[in-house]
This record gives sequence, structure tokens and C-alpha cells, in this order.
Amino acid sequence: MSSPQQDLIGMARSIGFRVPFWIQGGGGNVSLKANSELWIKASGTRIDQMTVEKGIAVVDLFKFQKGFASLLTEPDGDERESRYSHLLTDCQMSTIPGQRPSMETGFHALLPGQRIYHFHSLASLAMAQLSYRAEVTDLVQDCNLTVDFISLARPGVNLTAAVIENNQADIYLLESHGVILQGKDEKTLELWQDIETRFLKSVTESPMSALNKFAQTSVTEAMKNLGGKIQFIWKNYFPDAAVFEKDILRTFGGPQNEVKLSIHTWEEIQRRGDLKVAGWFEVALASYLLGKLIPTLPELPEIFAESLVVLPTEKFRQVQS
Ligand SMILES: [Zn+2]
Repeated sequence: MSSPQQDLIGMARSIGFRVPFWIQGGGGNVSLKANSELWIKASGTRIDQMTVEKGIAVVDLFKFQKGFASLLTEPDGDERESRYSHLLTDCQMSTIPGQRPSMETGFHALLPGQRIYHFHSLASLAMAQLSYRAEVTDLVQDCNLTVDFISLARPGVNLTAAVIENNQADIYLLESHGVILQGKDEKTLELWQDIETRFLKSVTESPMSALNKFAQTSVTEAMKNLGGKIQFIWKNYFPDAAVFEKDILRTFGGPQNEVKLSIHTWEEIQRRGDLKVAGWFEVALASYLLGKLIPTLPELPEIFAESLVVLPTEKFRQVQS
């Protein structure tokens, strides 16, 4: 019989190789419920770097659920965010230092599904848009699954609160953020892959269909596909872009918020084995693809983007990653 650690790593592998289409940097997470424990990716760890020894946190599920219910009775604000951050620390059962549970532990712990996947699929940002919801709902129903659409919500307490209003959906599409899948096995993930592909094939008249070209590629192949070099004005389309904006502009930026990425820079980062800078490159590449291929995608409102950078849980993640 396999252990929860081995099962969780299997889940991580099944999504972790899809960089940059599903995963960029330390974003995305997986979890598994076993008895009264939640096994989840640790904060700041890359999903493709998880091993039995590293990158897994264990949370006391009942303690967390009880603590979260009490948080929800408090008004939204800095005080509540700071209590959420403490709750994550208080409920961790792992004795390995640094194995702090993901800041997105909230919905992993509160949703009833035994296995939960969350990642920042580029296609899902298009699918979450109002204009595609009817079409996406049809595709999901064809697979005998259900979908819920979640309006823009700050990761952490607010996003969890929005998701658990209906805790029975198989798929949650999060506006300007990504997707959550829940189920008892890997079936929902397999069907999601199919739904995403069918969606991209259905939008042939839009530049969005070109996203299909990046669905199975690596960063190297994606950069080759783009002619080896890209240059663009920085925009925040999803939470991780806002959180790492300063690092990205400092590392790859030029004047007037212009960002330049080249395959040579990427190869150099790979050679150095610098995971932190690799993550920024991946987030920047994802941001470019979103801006180029989903013309209707709005930027995050500035006030929303600013509120992410100061979250206590994000500060912790920035130090870690
Ligand atoms: Zn996320």
C-alpha cells in the first residue's frame, strides 16, 4: 500500500510538468485527505520539486476547520489575514522545519473532496470569463461533472469563503486566477484536461486557440515557438504576477515597465540552477502569453494587486521562494 506522501507526490507529478501552461514558479498546489490529516504542498516549494522528504506539510484537519469557521465570523481585514497566517502555523503537524502549509490551505481543507488539485492554467483564465461560461458549462456537463464560477477573490480567507459557499462542485473556475478540481481520484483531472482541450479547439476564430500550442510544451520549447525572444509591457493578469512584479521588473525589466525574455537568459538560469529566478521567468512568460492570446482578459485592479503583496501569508511565501 502506498503512503499519503507517495500519493501526494504522484498527484504533484501529474500537474507539475506542465510548465508554463499549468504551473509557473511556486504556484499551484495539491492535497490529499487521510483520516483527520490534510497532506498538502508546503508554502514556497515548487510542485515539481516535491519529494517524500521535502515540500510536504501535514495539517490537523479538524483543528484547522474549527479555527477557520471562527475566522469567518470576523470582519475582513489585516487582523483576520494575520490570524489566518497564524492558524496555518498552529495547525501544522509536520516536525520538519520550514514545512509550512500552502497559503491556499483554506479551500483544500474545507472542500470535502479527498484529492484536490489547484493550478494556474492559462486556458482557465479565459474559461472563467463571463462570455465563455455557458460554453464551458456545456463542456463540463458533457463529462457528467459540475462547475462553479468564482468572482475575483483575494487568495487565502476570501477565496476560501467564496469557494465553500457551494462545496459540491467538481471544478471551480476562479476569475483571473486559475482552477480547482476535487474528487476521490485522478478522474477529475483527466476530464479537465479533455475539457480544456475541447474549449481551446472551439475558439478557432480567436487568438486564444493558439494557447493549445503551449499546452504540452516546456519553457524552452515555448520560447523557441515564440522565436527565442519576447518583449512586452508588463501587466498583472493573475495573483502571482502581482506578487512577483517587482522581482520580475528588477530582473528582466527595462524602461517603462518593459520586460524582455530570451531563450539564452532561460538557458543561463537553468545552467545556474536558480529556481527562484526560473520561477520569475515562468510567471513573466505566462503573463506575456495571457496578454497576447486572450485579448479580452482584464488586468487585476490595482488596489487588488496591491492588497496581495502585503498579505502576511504572501510575505512568508516570497521569503521562501
Ligand atoms: Zn492559486
